[in-house]
Amino acid sequence: MEKIVIPFIAGDGVGPEVTQSMQHIIDAAIEKAYNGTRKIEWLEVIAGGKAFDQLGTYLPDETLEAFKKYHIGIKGPLMTPVGGGIRSLNVALRQTLDLYVCLRPVRYYKGIESPVKKPQNVDMVIFRENTEDIYAGIEWDAGSDEARKVYSFLHEEMGVNKVRFPETSSFGIKPVSKEGTERLVRAACRYAIDNGRPSVTIVHKGNIMKFTEGGFKRWGYELAEREFHEEIESGKLRMQDCIADAFLQNALLKPENYSVIATLNLNGDYVSDMLAAQVGGIGIAPGANINYSTGDAIFEATHGTAPDIAGKNIVNPCSNLLSGVMMLEHIGWNKAGELINSALERSFEAGYATIDLARLMDNGHPLGTREFTQHIISLL
Ligand code: NAD
Repeated sequence: MEKIVIPFIAGDGVGPEVTQSMQHIIDAAIEKAYNGTRKIEWLEVIAGGKAFDQLGTYLPDETLEAFKKYHIGIKGPLMTPVGGGIRSLNVALRQTLDLYVCLRPVRYYKGIESPVKKPQNVDMVIFRENTEDIYAGIEWDAGSDEARKVYSFLHEEMGVNKVRFPETSSFGIKPVSKEGTERLVRAACRYAIDNGRPSVTIVHKGNIMKFTEGGFKRWGYELAEREFHEEIESGKLRMQDCIADAFLQNALLKPENYSVIATLNLNGDYVSDMLAAQVGGIGIAPGANINYSTGDAIFEATHGTAPDIAGKNIVNPCSNLLSGVMMLEHIGWNKAGELINSALERSFEAGYATIDLARLMDNGHPLGTREFTQHIISLL
């Protein structure tokens, strides 16, 4: 019997419901795929509201230690603590484990209502840089002593005269490094090659931000040429780039031209949600945060805690479930993941889904979260 220990955070709000659904379906799929020769041992660790209630801290050291020890974990949504301390638990987890790739696959499931004519042409995997860019959180509020200091440094020492309203300006810093770019683009290229995907597109705003976004583009191409020369020469991998605003148009008009996307943090945030919306999947989009150098990875639902529907047996568990499928692929248990994908495809095509999706389908049959879970298990 091959066993793997996976720490999980059930999460706040709808978190426990989607986590339970995901675990039941994944356990059943593994049993089915491997005839009882493989098994996940789920290890609960806590964070968010539950941790605060029990231990007086939102992110206990034991939780971080468990993720470090087992290298892989999965989490439901966590409430964002209000007032001081931690800005976001998700950001704290990513930073502590240096999970530098935010991985977002976007594909269409037949039967799901989409706002575009050919959603089936969207099949992309986004590699969003997770640790740098304007998201590093280096910023100062207008009117603060720090903002004044930053301005005086810019003005007096750097000769900057372009700040239109210095007294009322907030300031933010956008660090983008060669190392940060290289590890992100390397992971994207390796993924494309390993998964038979034809191209990697570097999405950037290098036409305006020459050294940060422009550096990302240049360092990305140089890395690909240096480390994946053979694959590029043989036609196995095509490198291309696209300016972010043009990409948002092109991804709508000719999505079939794009496969793997490598992009910085802020662009990646916008691009992920737009593409997910294009396949009607914003509510079911999965995600993962990965460090491809150490192998550490945390898989997660991309929606929030949805407190308005918590405990009502109506939450859609698919975002967390599909993150679980990504996790199965990450550990090489692809067969179990394929069974789940196929069951979801058949369920959606026949109109069986939770209410959020079923109400948009012509043939929709709304199911409660528990009933949907059982339905998927029966289709495995
Ligand atoms: P939300 O995603 O929780 O909810 C937005 C709307 O979408 C709500 O109407 C909700 O009912 C609905 N919804 C969300 N997920 C759904 C699902 N799986 N099935 C059916 N309907 C669903 O966003 P919010 O209300 O802005 O945030 C609530 C809390 O979650 C906040 O504390 C926020 O900080 C946190 N949050 C956490 C994460 C995370 O842990 N990854 C992400 C986003 C927000």
